[in-house]
Amino acid sequence: MTHPAQPKASHFINGEYVEDTAGTPIPVIYAATGEQIATVHAATPAIVEQALSTAKAAQKAWAKMSGTERGRILRRAADIMRERNHDLSVLETYDTGKPLQETLVADATSGADALEYFGGLAASLTGEHIPLGEDWVYTKREALGLCVGIGAWNYPTQIACWKGAPALACGNAMVFKPSETTPLCALKVAEILIDAGAPAGVFNVVQGMGEVGGALVTDPRVDKVSLTGSVPTGKKVYAAAAEGMKHVTMELGGKSPLIIFDDADIDNAVGGAINGNFYSSGQVCSNGTRVFVQKGIKEKFLARLAERTGNAILGDPMDEATSFGPMVTENQMNIVLGYIEKGKEEGARLICGGRRADMDGYFIEPTVFADVTDDMTIAREEIFGPVMSVLDFDTEEEVVARANDTEFGLSAGVFTKDFTRAHRVIGNLEAGSCFINSYNDAPVEAPFGGVKASGVGRENSKEAIKHFSQVKSVYVRMGDVEAAF
Ligand code: NAD
Repeated sequence: MTHPAQPKASHFINGEYVEDTAGTPIPVIYAATGEQIATVHAATPAIVEQALSTAKAAQKAWAKMSGTERGRILRRAADIMRERNHDLSVLETYDTGKPLQETLVADATSGADALEYFGGLAASLTGEHIPLGEDWVYTKREALGLCVGIGAWNYPTQIACWKGAPALACGNAMVFKPSETTPLCALKVAEILIDAGAPAGVFNVVQGMGEVGGALVTDPRVDKVSLTGSVPTGKKVYAAAAEGMKHVTMELGGKSPLIIFDDADIDNAVGGAINGNFYSSGQVCSNGTRVFVQKGIKEKFLARLAERTGNAILGDPMDEATSFGPMVTENQMNIVLGYIEKGKEEGARLICGGRRADMDGYFIEPTVFADVTDDMTIAREEIFGPVMSVLDFDTEEEVVARANDTEFGLSAGVFTKDFTRAHRVIGNLEAGSCFINSYNDAPVEAPFGGVKASGVGRENSKEAIKHFSQVKSVYVRMGDVEAAF
């Protein structure tokens, strides 16, 4: 019997499911069991062509609709997404392995928030009137045209919506390529937009690996590329987009610092460190994986952290009691286990976890290393798994310098009761998305994105509008034209 996760077809183009079995088969594996639950096919050149030409054709009429009309469709899509939250969450769990306890509250719900928020903004995207004596200039905020979205595997519904909702609100059309690891959820986003009344062709989904992504990015009809992925992929995609002078948004990786001062509330700080390292089994780009703890509270912090980490419930992700799921793939599990071995070899002190869990699926125990130093591999490279590095520090000045000593700059957090210090430290940290006495909150109202190698541009909030639109300025002369001859 066909597994319930198997989609009707691999791609969604021009308002309907489309299949082309000539494309390379991509197995979809349920990370909690290792079982193959679905197969999709990578887009052939014919499918890529169909998606791009459809989106290009649909965009003009979509941009001509009023913002109110476009916004109404997006807000209707948000409502449908919330109504179907349970089914979408189950699918998200099949796609990623993340526990239902998380997917019920963090995926389709976050996608719906983006659809609702940008749906609400769509009607207010106006320009300016700039008086110049008798003459004047007016500006118009216009769509970019055809946008390509490329997703990472950790938040397939959310990423499709975080890119699709602002793109569509501004009057663009989108071709979205999910990660080949989690190809299922974006198809549902496309289906919901059609059910909400979006014109066929304004949001399309094609499957495939980097090669398909590359074909989309280099197509001359494409005006903008928004990628969520790793820094190495980001560099390639940014370069390819630059070749065609395309707009980009790059949401890339991180190795973010979370700084905990002696005066912090220990339980809140431990909670922040848990949220910033073990949510989605650590497969979150903004994670605060370098936890700098001031020496005075180090052992107390570690003891409480180990105790609370021991409460993680590993198990069947479909059981709502489970609070910690598997790695997305066997390969990712092996990469993370390799980093854990490196941590041990390089002399970090293992506080808890450190092994593959003794159960089916690709589970790794939530792992904490203490006595980590800045030069250790686990403190320098993005692991993208449940491995927290705890580093000691003495002074504010020292910790800020060490926190900034990385090519990345996605997020940063600080826990302290001294608010002057909190703002000063955040002001000195090189990061795009920051937290004071909290970690990893990502409301749609707040800009999200990184500095340095972690990215370019911002998602969410009004900032995202700037990255999916451009300004036309129009000079209007009321009198005669003066000319030199
Ligand atoms: P990845 O870089 O391997 O792949 C990302 C996407 O890019 C995939 O869809 C892939 O098929 C595509 N791709 C690969 N090569 C390409 C090419 N040459 N041209 C066009 N597309 C190409 O990343 P991943 O392993 O799926 O995800 C993990 C990474 O994503 C981590 O580094 C993580 O930090 C990052 N991430 C960032 C954010 C953020 O918002 N900043 C969010 C989630 C994940």
